[in-house]
Amino acid sequence: MPELPEVEVTRLSFVDRIAGARVTRVRVGKPLRWPLGCSAESLVGRQVLGVRRRGKYLLVDLDHGLLLWHLGMSGSLLFGDARNPPCAHDHFDLDTTHGLLRLNDPRRFGAVVFAPSEQSTQAVKLLGHLGVEPLNGGFELNAFHAGLRQRKAAIKQVLLAGALVVGVGNIYASEALFLAGIRPTTRADCISRPRAEKLRLAIIDVLTRAVQKGGSTLRDFSAADGKNGYFQLEALVYDRAGEPCRVCGTTIRRIQQGQRSTFYCAVCQKP
Ligand SMILES: [Zn+2]
Repeated sequence: MPELPEVEVTRLSFVDRIAGARVTRVRVGKPLRWPLGCSAESLVGRQVLGVRRRGKYLLVDLDHGLLLWHLGMSGSLLFGDARNPPCAHDHFDLDTTHGLLRLNDPRRFGAVVFAPSEQSTQAVKLLGHLGVEPLNGGFELNAFHAGLRQRKAAIKQVLLAGALVVGVGNIYASEALFLAGIRPTTRADCISRPRAEKLRLAIIDVLTRAVQKGGSTLRDFSAADGKNGYFQLEALVYDRAGEPCRVCGTTIRRIQQGQRSTFYCAVCQKP
C-alpha cells in the first residue's frame, strides 16, 4: 500500500513538469472508490497550477477547482510524454499539454475526485478529519502529547488512525516506536511528555529519510520511462520477526494489532 513517503515522492516526480499545463482530454475508466463528481469534459481547457499533498491525497490545483487523487491500496501514477493505449488497470487519464498523468490501480480502491475548492463539502469530506502533517513544521509536541493523553488505545493503533498526525502507516509506526523505545502495545494516555517528544522526533526522522530514499530511487530511473520506484528503508524491526534486534540482539517479536502485524524488540522498547 502506498504510504505518505511514496505519495510525496510521486508528487515530486511530476510536480515541476505538469505545472502550467492545460488539460486537453480526460478519460475515465472503470469505476474507482468514489466518482469523479463532475463531467470529464468540464475539465478540458483548465490549467494545472500545481500539485500539493495532504496526508496521502495529492491535490492537483486547477485554475477552477482541484482534483483530489488517492492511490488506495494498489494505485500508482505515471506522468510522461508517451500516450500508450490504456492497459486493463489504467482507470483515469488526465492528458495535458505537458504530458499524460495516468492512474493505474488494479484493486480500484483509489479515486480521483473533483472539488470546486478546498473548503467545499466534497474536499472537506475527504480531508477534514486528517491530523496534522508530520513534515511541514506543524507537528508540535504540545498538541501531540495532549492528543495522546485523551486516548486509551494502544499507541500503535493511535498512530495508524491518523487523527493526531497523518502518514504514519504500518511500516513507519513500527520503526518509529522502535526508535523511540516505546512498546507498540503501550496505552497512548500512559506515554509521558519526554517519551512523546522522542516519538514525535522519531516519526519525523523515519518519514524524512523515506522521502529522501525515494527521491534518490527516483533519480536512478530515466525520466522518459516515468517509472516510480517503490522503496523501503533498511528496517530495524518491520518484517524482521525471528531475527536479532540490530541494537541488542534480542529476537524481534511479531504480534497482531487490529488485523495488522506489529514488530518490536521486547528489550529496547519499554511498556
Ligand atoms: Zn533490542
